[in-house]
Amino acid sequence: MKLEICHLYPDVLNLYGDNGNILCLQQRLAWRGIESSVTRLPIGESADFTKFDIFFIGGGQDFEQEVLLADLDRGKSAEIRAAIADGKTFLTICGGYQMLGRSYTTWDGVTCDFIGAIDFETVGAKERMIGNFAFQCGEESGGSVVVGFENHSGKTRLGPGVQPLGRVLSGFGNNGEDGGEGVRWNNVFGTYSHGPVLPKNPEFADAVLRTAIARKDPSFVLPALDDALENTAHDYMLHRLNL
Ligand code: GLN
Repeated sequence: MKLEICHLYPDVLNLYGDNGNILCLQQRLAWRGIESSVTRLPIGESADFTKFDIFFIGGGQDFEQEVLLADLDRGKSAEIRAAIADGKTFLTICGGYQMLGRSYTTWDGVTCDFIGAIDFETVGAKERMIGNFAFQCGEESGGSVVVGFENHSGKTRLGPGVQPLGRVLSGFGNNGEDGGEGVRWNNVFGTYSHGPVLPKNPEFADAVLRTAIARKDPSFVLPALDDALENTAHDYMLHRLNL
């Protein structure tokens, strides 16, 4: 088996080590003898989206998100919507997560019409939501407790029928009000968790990988790994959050 990973906008959406998620996905596959390749798609470059198994989009500042709008309009929005409808796996972080929704209105009133693949919208607040945080994934996303770092102005509200990725245990999550964090839609995992999120959340990393592998070969069972080191980092942060 070989998984093809597409890293969308690595040139502009790359906050807080988010690129480390790509390294983590590749390494967890390699440890199991599964091949993978990464195609980086910066602004202005295109590729055949149907050949990819996993898409990754990192976080970015408001300015960088605005810069991307023209490129999304040149066909990428439609290709991303089609890939999501086709059950491709997406891991999207913060600004990259917000981009999958309908729109983002910045705290100073600029509205960006985004991809509209999932029914949610984001509105910026003057006070940013910043800090280490933790949330518990829903059962459909493996049920593990994820630790990470959030820094966003946007408050995301999911439309009716759209489920969050998990429930906030400490911190803000989607909006600091309804207890939801991120989104899980089809095989899309959207989260506010930077850090990068995957290396210190191995159970979550495997939940993401399993969706891509199941789409290729439903009978393939992902072998367990020794995650002692990763879990030490994970548990240390839980301890810091008094959880
Ligand atoms: N610019 C967005 C916000 O402030 C996303 C930030 C991020 O990706 N960290 O909400």
